[in-house]
Amino acid sequence: MLTEGLTARTGVDTAGGGSPVVDLSAAERAAAAFLAALGVPLDSESRRATPGRMARAYAEMLTPRPFEPTTFPNDEGYDELVLARSLPVRSVCEHHLLPFVGVAHVGYLPGERILGLSKLARVVEMFARRPQVQERLTQQVANWMQGTLAPRGVGVVVEAEHMCMSMRGVGVTGASTTTSALHGLLRDDARSRAEFFALVDRPGAAGPGPRPHPARPHPARPDPARPHPTLTRTPIPMTTE
Ligand SMILES: [Zn+2]
Repeated sequence: MLTEGLTARTGVDTAGGGSPVVDLSAAERAAAAFLAALGVPLDSESRRATPGRMARAYAEMLTPRPFEPTTFPNDEGYDELVLARSLPVRSVCEHHLLPFVGVAHVGYLPGERILGLSKLARVVEMFARRPQVQERLTQQVANWMQGTLAPRGVGVVVEAEHMCMSMRGVGVTGASTTTSALHGLLRDDARSRAEFFALVDRPGAAGPGPRPHPARPHPARPDPARPHPTLTRTPIPMTTE
């Protein structure tokens, strides 16, 4: 029997600066000054409202939406992996304030409580909507799952393309950066970890849907000997200048 859901308000993580106080008109004036300093004329009809649009767009991308993460008792004692694949990731790199976009795969081995499946995407979004680095985003989602559900294991993999790599600097287009963070049995038990990464790579019958891009060898499977939570990435480094 499913008893009443327990809810807890998400405190927006203060490590990322907390919930920002947004002054849209100040942001609009600053955007106009910024574009003027870069020699971008704003006197055409098409561009006249661009500073305001910039301000509103960045305010949206940088402001987490609080939500109620309803959890339920795991009355049926479900003890297999729960994996949500290809949850959208839309974030902004804090080094360049340019977007990085991709997908997150979030899995956990339930303990005494389970989370409404639709909430997994909201957890990813909550930590994505702020100035971020992909490594921290990955760890924050995993830590939130661990802290909120106390599951027997948590695994989070994020694959994303960074516009600061694709559109500037080295100009690498289509390069994807992979990060992962693991807790509990998904970190310590080789079979559970292998199952998690196999389902992330090849959903097969157990996966909820097709991948948005062709499956490829996982470039960042953690080495069991590494300290955890594991963070790995593809060899192409993000520029940080
Ligand atoms: Zn960047």
